[in-house]
Amino acid sequence: MTTFKDLGLIPELLQAIADLGYTEPTPIQAQAIPLVLAGRDVMGGAQTGTGKTASFTLPLLQRLAPYANTSTSPARHPVRALILAPTRELAAQVEESVRQYGKYLPLRSACIYGGVPMDPQIAQLRAGVEVLVATPGRLLDHVQQRTLNLSQVEVVVLDEADRMLDMGFIPDVRRILGLLTARKQSLLFSATFSDEIKKLADSFLKDPVLVEVARNRTAESVTHLVHPVAREKKRELLVHLIKSRDMRQVLVFCSTRLGTNRLAYQLNREGVQAQAIHGDKSQSERTQALEEFKSGKVRVLVATDVAARGLDIAELPYVVNFDLPNSPEDYVHRIGRTGRAGAKGTAISLVSPDEHERLEAIEKTIKQRIRREIVPGFGPQAAEATPLLEPRRDRRRDAEVGRLTRGDEGAGAPNPSQVPDDPIFYMPYEPGMYTPPQQQPPPKPKPEPPRKPQKQIPVLLGGPVRKTG
Ligand code: AMP
Repeated sequence: MTTFKDLGLIPELLQAIADLGYTEPTPIQAQAIPLVLAGRDVMGGAQTGTGKTASFTLPLLQRLAPYANTSTSPARHPVRALILAPTRELAAQVEESVRQYGKYLPLRSACIYGGVPMDPQIAQLRAGVEVLVATPGRLLDHVQQRTLNLSQVEVVVLDEADRMLDMGFIPDVRRILGLLTARKQSLLFSATFSDEIKKLADSFLKDPVLVEVARNRTAESVTHLVHPVAREKKRELLVHLIKSRDMRQVLVFCSTRLGTNRLAYQLNREGVQAQAIHGDKSQSERTQALEEFKSGKVRVLVATDVAARGLDIAELPYVVNFDLPNSPEDYVHRIGRTGRAGAKGTAISLVSPDEHERLEAIEKTIKQRIRREIVPGFGPQAAEATPLLEPRRDRRRDAEVGRLTRGDEGAGAPNPSQVPDDPIFYMPYEPGMYTPPQQQPPPKPKPEPPRKPQKQIPVLLGGPVRKTG
């Protein structure tokens, strides 16, 4: 069995690893660490959950260790390593790893991303940092404002390059790479390798070594399951599964921001504490939602692919695909949230008949046929489905929501012009809106039509409003 010591790591790093309780390197770590230590360019094929962050962070810190110093002079702490990540969550998580693994080395790190004020970041950069983790857009903002000097960056890491591509960051990434005149070593990590990623890799990696961990890592630690279901029954089925299987800590994926908001709202109405996270939410809202989810205060986190990127939740037991993703690669990313670092996990997909093509593409990618299991009462044909839930108080509203649900979920982003008038859709987001009912009941979406309109007639006619006490 290979140990971290066998990989040639220095005592400061071995101690930090021991503090974290890691006993042995994961496969990607065992492969990548010696190569990065030897100064090679590496193209790493690994998804989140495989231990990929440590596979580049540990050797990178070791390569910078000779520069470690406690001087207070900013000039003694130039940026020497740059890690680019697609989202602020991932960037923050990677920087947290840098801090943890590097805690016995006097090296400084910082994390910079958009959506927050620049000034605190400028102060940090001015004071000097050796390891900078950043999202591409904000990094370029700093470069443009001359608050960041990249002329001494020796090592660059592109983390989750496929996601950078999906998010349209590749032109920014190329511009950044062009600024790194002192670059000696480059690493690229990606869960999938499309032609475009390969092209990017070819353009900046020098004689790279490809290290890959079996994508089917999931085969051992994740159970995949498909519940065929009529589209309009998905929400009921989800509630049924969560309640009947006593599922806790469920990460649910929806394709659209509107879909996440609405589903979280509906789950709360059904007594299942849920929070939505997506790109429209502020960083502090996302962090709070994640904290509440991690602490168990919130049972379900409903997320879009983008928002869930980089979430590190140890041993998340369930991932549910409320909608199947457009690309099979996103499925791979989504299920990377469960069964992490050897823990067991279940990935459940609620698949309606119109999603079968997507399911086939996913099965082709993961080279696995996923078991289908119809939950009694929730078959793929709407007609055969019988409600198992207790009758709800507001059937009229639910019918309306059901109608809307059929309209767009799962079919990618809805065309706004086709989305019917739904108060839940158009309700402006307010912090706390989707917190569980016992903490703060979700506000009523719209005042219900008055039950006794005749009482208001005098007002409508301009008559006096009588105070009743
Ligand atoms: P990553 O794939 O980098 O997102 O890491 C997934 C999770 O595995 C993180 O929570 C790490 O803390 C954890 N981890 C990384 N390496 C190891 C290891 N060698 N042993 C146990 N857990 C690890």
